[in-house]
Amino acid sequence: MSDPDLISLPLKTRGRIELLDVTDLVRGAVSRSGVLNGLCHVFSPHTTAAVTINENADPDVKGDMIMALDNMVPLDIGYKHSEGNSRAHVMASLIGSSVTVCVQEGRMTLGTWQGIYFCEFDGPRSRKIYVSVFER
Ligand code: ZN
Repeated sequence: MSDPDLISLPLKTRGRIELLDVTDLVRGAVSRSGVLNGLCHVFSPHTTAAVTINENADPDVKGDMIMALDNMVPLDIGYKHSEGNSRAHVMASLIGSSVTVCVQEGRMTLGTWQGIYFCEFDGPRSRKIYVSVFER
């Protein structure tokens, strides 16, 4: 396995909570890496944002995920964190900070309905994701 170049992709989020489809951005990074067979790792270096894979065909799925998270994580249960954004920290940990996708013949092996989402929980902000593509 060779050392991959770390690719940093800047993002701008617009909402307080938002799921941003970054599939095409990541696809471009995989293509530029020149890796034909290996793994693509996408990492969020933020404590109030996350990365996940889910359906990108019906836009209602995004809204439903946000609605479900909104209902799962309480608004105020006496959080102690002085920054006042504990809810966003909890959501970020629930979803997780990275995903890994196989690369085969230069393309990610995402399923037909799958897309990669950057999940903003404390926006709007300037953010970034790191993409590493490893040859196998
Ligand atoms: Zn905080």
